[in-house]
Amino acid sequence: MALIVCKFGGTSVASPERLRNVAKRLVARKQEGNDVVAVVSAMGKTTDELMGLAAAVNSNPPTREMDRLLSTGEQVSMALLAMAIEARGYQAMSFTGRQAGIETDGTHAKAKIVKVHNERIMEAIDAGYIPVVAGFQGIDGNGDITTLGRGGSDTTAVAVAWGIGADICEIYSDVDGVYSADPRLCPHARKLDQISYDDMLEMAGAGSGVLQMRAVEFARKFNVVIHSRSAFSDAQGTFVKEECDMMEEAVITGIAHDTSEVKVTIRGVPDATGIAAKVFSALAGNMVNTDMIIQNVSEGGLTDISFTCPASDLPRAEETLARVVPEIHARELSIDESIAKVSLVGTGMKSAPGVAAKAFATLGENNINILAISTSPIRLSVVVEAGQAAEAVRLLHTAFGLDSDEIFEETQLSAEEIAAKLAKGR
Ligand code: ADP
Ligand code: ASP
Ligand code: MG
Repeated sequence: MALIVCKFGGTSVASPERLRNVAKRLVARKQEGNDVVAVVSAMGKTTDELMGLAAAVNSNPPTREMDRLLSTGEQVSMALLAMAIEARGYQAMSFTGRQAGIETDGTHAKAKIVKVHNERIMEAIDAGYIPVVAGFQGIDGNGDITTLGRGGSDTTAVAVAWGIGADICEIYSDVDGVYSADPRLCPHARKLDQISYDDMLEMAGAGSGVLQMRAVEFARKFNVVIHSRSAFSDAQGTFVKEECDMMEEAVITGIAHDTSEVKVTIRGVPDATGIAAKVFSALAGNMVNTDMIIQNVSEGGLTDISFTCPASDLPRAEETLARVVPEIHARELSIDESIAKVSLVGTGMKSAPGVAAKAFATLGENNINILAISTSPIRLSVVVEAGQAAEAVRLLHTAFGLDSDEIFEETQLSAEEIAAKLAKGR
């Protein structure tokens, strides 16, 4: 008998039929003799739709109201799931973030969990209920509703698992685990039986949306084992944990892509001391998260500075630079929104020379132009044209020997679907 947290994402609870399927799976886990706590996301695209509604009434909605609005999505699915469980003859009780004891700081839209008060959930388990917790939300010190950032239900699940001392945190989605690349773009992607926290953190940070980065950070910090698996099959998925048998062997664990960033270039910047500091302090002061930074060699005392940042930070970056560009006597600003970051990730990369050379040669031979590069000891990222990202992922996957003989059976996306998947946003 174990204590298990089971988290179901938006696709898994997208319709009444799918909610009934989730209820069936939870009841089956209970019948095996386990204590079970469910965590749910909002149904299907509900969060996007609510964001659309907000944008239709205010182009810059107050974050407090936004959190209030978005938190309703998970409250619908939690109540429906509890009803679906009851319909199978089992007791269930739904809990909002507040009721589940998820206390956060007051940073609306990306609040951090500061405490998990487990009493009500423990009481419900002891009374024989299946508690159903609304993911993605918490409550701050003022009693205001907060949300944890896109994909934040994963973090709720890990936090609840830690808070109640669960044996495992199972995260169910529409893929049956963590693959060496997004299996929907890379048909020969390989399912990983296990992955270390460090590699998973780097994959998630580089855009592998299968697990939210903050959830992995939380899991690593408190040693919560995650099992990423399919909501639609019983197949074993991927275990995310500290020690992995393969850790020393593979140079590259996987390839991630991220289309959520844009590239900003300031042209004709005077090449003088203190200019970069001025630009980036102003951006930081306006909460713009810069990622890759490139400064060209100067010609005639002028240079270009480019950086990438999340598309969601672009309005603030533009606002800041509209002020700073004239101040530093730079010539102009240009924005490239159709870019994607493709990253090779692997703890084994630390001690393997030649990874960059091989990656650049692979892309160069296939006429994929590299617009920016950044590296860490366990990651190499390049920025390419968004339209070439899927091809870049596949080419690098093959070049680094990651291809599996099997083809991921659901990878039948049309060109339009791939384009939609690579569109800005998530
Ligand atoms: P949920 O809505 O259940 O939280 P997500 O959409 O957030 O699910 O995560 C599942 C998606 O993650 C898959 O549909 C897949 O396209 C994408 N994905 C990206 N990178 C990977 C990867 N390396 N392995 C598996 N899935 C990945
Ligand atoms: N519903 C939220 C989102 O779409 C949280 C989640 O699904 O994890 O981002
Ligand atoms: Mg998700």
